[in-house]
Amino acid sequence: MLFPRREKEVRHGILLENPVDDPACCRGCDGICCRSFPSVELTWEEYEQLQALGATRLEFALYGPPRLMIENGCEFQVGSRCGIYLHRPAICRHFICRTDGGGASSA
Ligand code: SF4
Ligand code: SF4
Repeated sequence: MLFPRREKEVRHGILLENPVDDPACCRGCDGICCRSFPSVELTWEEYEQLQALGATRLEFALYGPPRLMIENGCEFQVGSRCGIYLHRPAICRHFICRTDGGGASSA
């Protein structure tokens, strides 16, 4: 029996100039971007907001921006979705990915 051949889909991450807020995006993806980077850069306001939301993986250094560590998966990921969608950091709001076929999605 022959099975249809499935090409491996390649995604390319892009940071947009303007944020995307569309919860309908990213259907069919299990949130790869939320566990594919070591950390997310934050502003101090975002740091304090995430702290108030119960974040346990926040880090700051003398130099450079504070960060939310997401290595091995962001603690705010619920299943394949962002559990703090309306409060997610700006860098998450600006991130989209495109597939080789040209489709675009946003976390
Ligand atoms: S932006 Fe959306 S489609 Fe792209 S990796 Fe992140 S969750 Fe998946
Ligand atoms: S805050 Fe939300 S969108 Fe950002 S990395 Fe975590 S789960 Fe993903």
